[in-house]
Amino acid sequence: MSESLATVSYLGATILFILCLGGLSHPETSRRGNLYGVIGMTIAVLATVFGPRVGGAGYAWIIAAMVVGAGIGVYAARTVQMTQMPELVALMHSLVGLAAMLVGFANYIDPAASAQMVGAEKTIHEIEIYVGILIGAVTFSGSVIAFGKLSGKISGNPLLLPARHWINLVGLLVVIWFGREFINAHSVSDGMLPLVVMTVIALLFGIHMVMAIGGADMPVVVSMLNSYSGWAAAATGFMLSNDLLIVTGALVGSSGAILSYIMCAAMNRHFISVIAGGFGTTGGTPAAAGAQPAGEVVAITAPDTAELLREARNVIIVPGYGMAVAQAQHTVYEITRLLREKGVNVRFGIHPVAGRMPGHMNVLLAEAKVPYDIVQEMDELNDDFPQTDVAMIIGANDIVNPGAQDDPNSPIAGMPVLEVWKAKTSIVMKRSMASGYAGVDNPLFYKDNNRMLFGDAKKMLDEVLASLKS
Ligand code: NDP
Repeated sequence: MSESLATVSYLGATILFILCLGGLSHPETSRRGNLYGVIGMTIAVLATVFGPRVGGAGYAWIIAAMVVGAGIGVYAARTVQMTQMPELVALMHSLVGLAAMLVGFANYIDPAASAQMVGAEKTIHEIEIYVGILIGAVTFSGSVIAFGKLSGKISGNPLLLPARHWINLVGLLVVIWFGREFINAHSVSDGMLPLVVMTVIALLFGIHMVMAIGGADMPVVVSMLNSYSGWAAAATGFMLSNDLLIVTGALVGSSGAILSYIMCAAMNRHFISVIAGGFGTTGGTPAAAGAQPAGEVVAITAPDTAELLREARNVIIVPGYGMAVAQAQHTVYEITRLLREKGVNVRFGIHPVAGRMPGHMNVLLAEAKVPYDIVQEMDELNDDFPQTDVAMIIGANDIVNPGAQDDPNSPIAGMPVLEVWKAKTSIVMKRSMASGYAGVDNPLFYKDNNRMLFGDAKKMLDEVLASLKS
């Protein structure tokens, strides 16, 4: 393939990626958006593989790598549960970071990569390598820790080292100093030591940054690492002088940054303090140190829940992580359909951080074919709870915690929540009195107008559905 055809293909792929992102911004257009992305990526891969830079023995390596990569991808797609998606996404971000690091080192060692470069051009190339490896290493280790936290392999409690901001600052200064050493190095062997030291510091920084985050703030970390992975890819694009990689990385990086901003608003955190890394745990209160269980709860049965729903005129369903665990979305849809047929006004209230990844609940409800027009954002319906007869909370906890408004010492203090307790009756479906991801007790459970429907959400909803039908 000629250089110009490859360039045109890259341009086409870039446009398709932009259309893809545009499509993904709404559930109705997301399938089309995904298709644009798939076509764009196919063109990008083909244009790269058959482009002017690859030839001869390179094909054998590429085919072998693609077979292995595709095999792992197909296996993961078939075996990973919907509830494990956030961990998988974190793991994939770590691979982008690892790739940026490895490409950076390979680029530095490869004599051909900078053979013709002198003066300012050489310096710029070395800065690209240094910054690329830096971002890649932070993304890699930070994402591995995020994977550990999301999968429960690492505790969600924040690790708060004394003077942690000073440690980060010293790390940053050392990285800058070694950057100078690296650029002033006269040979590859001279430059290797500063590069390796910086990589180790960057890896430690990534670990430290995510370890310091409390469970309640993880959504911001997930979207931030998404953004970092984009910048890592863009940095790789600079190293390899690959325009498509630069553009694609910038698209992912900036859309991830916008998502981080949205997540910050949803968590009531400040964007600037988040990107500075000094975020986590309001005043250093560990996530588990919330209020202790207090008061009595009133349990309800599935038939009584069905009775309340049957008599209601307005119902708001609030899904959370437990709905994903129980895979209850299809039964939720059946109940919704039945109630709507009976003239009940049923809507869904979606909190921006419900579940374990941005858009988690929307994906599940779309999968169950719940109509988009009754799925509303928190801000759209939060004022409607006083006119609501039944608020049905399915496997959600932190996102309906009134302590976020009432208890200034709560780790989630200030986080906007769905005000389900203002409904005439709220019904919480969960298996036990256990806390949610943030590890805080929920005063909602003890409110006079709240009922607890204990059990697996799918099982209980099946019983509610059976009672509604009878
Ligand atoms: P929570 O984690 O607060 O609560 C989920 C509840 O579901 C648990 O209390 C659990 O209680 C219940 N549950 C689990 N399995 C089942 C089941 N099979 N049947 C019924 N109930 C079940 O989830 P929310 O969605 O309310 O809040 C999301 C939390 O996750 C927030 O703290 C958010 O910050 C965090 N987070 C969000 C991310 C995002 O991007 N959206 C990323 C990372 C973290 P029990 O065990 O008693 O059944």
